[in-house]
Amino acid sequence: MDRVTQSYEATVSQTLFARAARVTPGGVNSPVRAFGAVGGTPRFMASGAGPYLTDADGREYVDLVCSWGPMILGHAHPAVTEAVQAAVARGTSFGTPTRGEVELAEEITGRVEPVERVRLVTSGTEATMSAIRLARGFTGRSKVIKFAGCYHGHVDALLAAAGSGVATFGLPDTPGVTGAQAGETVVLPYNDPDAVRAAFAAHSGEIACVITEAVPGNMGVVPPREGFTRALADLCAEHGALLISDEVMTGFRVSRQGWYGVEGVAPDLITFGKVMGGGFPAAAFGGRADVMDRLAPAGPVYQAGTLAGNPVATAAGLAQLRLLDADAYARLDATAAQLRGLVSAALAKEGVAHRVNAAGNMFSVFFTEAEVTDFASARTQETFRHSAFFHAMLDGGVHLPPSAFETWFVSTAHDEAALERIAAALPAAARAAAEAEAGAS
Ligand SMILES: *Cc1c(COP(=O)(O)O)cnc(C)c1O
Repeated sequence: MDRVTQSYEATVSQTLFARAARVTPGGVNSPVRAFGAVGGTPRFMASGAGPYLTDADGREYVDLVCSWGPMILGHAHPAVTEAVQAAVARGTSFGTPTRGEVELAEEITGRVEPVERVRLVTSGTEATMSAIRLARGFTGRSKVIKFAGCYHGHVDALLAAAGSGVATFGLPDTPGVTGAQAGETVVLPYNDPDAVRAAFAAHSGEIACVITEAVPGNMGVVPPREGFTRALADLCAEHGALLISDEVMTGFRVSRQGWYGVEGVAPDLITFGKVMGGGFPAAAFGGRADVMDRLAPAGPVYQAGTLAGNPVATAAGLAQLRLLDADAYARLDATAAQLRGLVSAALAKEGVAHRVNAAGNMFSVFFTEAEVTDFASARTQETFRHSAFFHAMLDGGVHLPPSAFETWFVSTAHDEAALERIAAALPAAARAAAEAEAGAS
């Protein structure tokens, strides 16, 4: 049943979704967009400006997805738009090195001290895939430790117990990933240093790297416990393995230096994406010079990309990063804190059990009483309450992540007017969450 159908007239989104389903698997190009977890028809967005999106039917929403993080200055920010238009006019791809790539690499290495060298790629998936290949090439070992509920893109070896869409749909071991690939991955509970210690002991001399989300945001936000990241760095150093901190989500979002700037633990390699591309496909991995210099053409580990360091994407990323100063982060943190307060108060007023986890300006709402510290506790939540809450907010003109296991994102464009619209939608949504029943979708 489709919740949107109030008249017999199909909406433009419904018509487009039906057309999409005939030509694209599931009608979308990335699974979570299909509304599978919450039911109903995804809104086909036509335009965005500041904190707002307008769908193909002309309805406006306050956007709390922000393209899953990249749109940290809001939609169609004038400085980013101008930089992109100027870059497009100069030509869109040359297949040669360009000045913009040097400047973006300098911007990244200038911000994040442990990144001595950086390689630009086109997606977060490519960044983590390449970082793992490099870690294996550098150490001459094959096994990778990852944490349940962490999502690192759809890299074969990392689709074991992954978050994001994989968590949303509860997919089993993905068909298409071979036993050999999955067998090289050791999956451990997050926030449990003893489990990591035991895995290193059990696989002595075999672990190439530990990969972790700097702050997991793909099972909802689950911050590292005090000392956990430090313990990972120490265990890796002790056993000759590399620590890869996946900052595709947190990088340049939670501070000028990402999560590294908050916690101060230096990993061997860091991956970036989302914010650094300014809404274009740009991502990166970087870190210790002695490790990075093993990459081709400086070293033997192969890695390449036709559109890597694309001039339009680098122009967008640079324009966005240059506006992200201390004031911008202070503003994002204040907006997120205000919003967390509004949501929590509305849910509490209706007696809805919930937890709000936060890391800097990233946060998420879990519909559970339990403290959420790992994937198992994240899954104690009542996702049916999230679905009811989500649809009531959407009806009230607020665009939330269509999954209970995703981070909410704000931008510097979210102002008092946007927050007032959210506040106006919250009471009905909290009531819908309170009245929701398991089994009804
Ligand atoms: C989004 C994300 C990725 C994947 O990035 P894509 O650009 O979607 O391939 C990897 N790691 C983390 C932590 C992410 O949030």
